Amino acid sequence: MIEPHHAQIHPWPYFRVVGGLWQLPFRRDFPAKRYPGPVGIHVGECGQMNAWPLLVLPTLGACAGVAAWGAVSSTSQLFGPTLSHTAKPSQIALTFDDGPNPAQTAQFLRILDRYHAPATFFLIGRFARTCPELVREIASRGHGIGNHTETHANLAWLPARQIADELRGCQESIASALSAGSQAAPILMRPPFGYRGPQLFSAVHDVGLRGVAMWSLKCYEWRAQSAERLIERLRPVTERVRGASVHQDRHGGEVILLHDGDARKQGSDRRHVLVALEYWLPRWRDAGFEFVTMNEVAAGFTTGGW
Ligand SMILES: [Zn+2]
Repeated sequence: MIEPHHAQIHPWPYFRVVGGLWQLPFRRDFPAKRYPGPVGIHVGECGQMNAWPLLVLPTLGACAGVAAWGAVSSTSQLFGPTLSHTAKPSQIALTFDDGPNPAQTAQFLRILDRYHAPATFFLIGRFARTCPELVREIASRGHGIGNHTETHANLAWLPARQIADELRGCQESIASALSAGSQAAPILMRPPFGYRGPQLFSAVHDVGLRGVAMWSLKCYEWRAQSAERLIERLRPVTERVRGASVHQDRHGGEVILLHDGDARKQGSDRRHVLVALEYWLPRWRDAGFEFVTMNEVAAGFTTGGW
């Protein structure tokens, strides 16, 4: 079926070099015809096809796959260092995104107080402007505050200048809610949806933020689901820690992504998250976990381990 008479060499059984191109011998079932175009496929008497697309396209596809993974994976360091786990397996960093939410953030603060669990709230700037008293309440109770952009924009394709505008807007929203000189101003940001590109990091530093905070565990609790389902999704926290204790240096503890609000609108119902926390917080505390803010996590990695 394969006609070798035009072949010069056979670097691989299915390819041969014709006219300086690697080509794939083709079945001789087609009429002699040349198909012009950038790909240069032509099928003729001897039936041959430019094989470069077969080599190059999968390579490009693989590169695109790696880039996509780098852009969306919460633990990828491809485009720059991110915080996605705590220093020790015994530490949990609870993080709450997309607030402040006047319907529920106060209830999150009460339950965290009850179990002496400091957490970190990644606030959306435009929401912080509408309820500055909640921003102050978060800070006064000892929780960390992070920058989650002004409008919750997808930063993956924005130029660095626009990303800096988003971050600066959020930073100003939070600063205007806090008292002058407050130590609670964000030093970390979290990209909406976790999407980021290589340009993010220059914008982060231009604005004066220290770094990018991601997560190690998400529970998809922004979708409607029962509290029981969410409780099960949080169960790996204790199970992973048992496994991680063997490889303590490599793993560390969980940074858990949760939401006290909804980026699309304020006033969202997050009761299933509250019920799941009511279940797990006393159990995690009794199991000996320590709750840390993301600022504390960052301080623990001052040697460049993230
Ligand atoms: Zn968000």
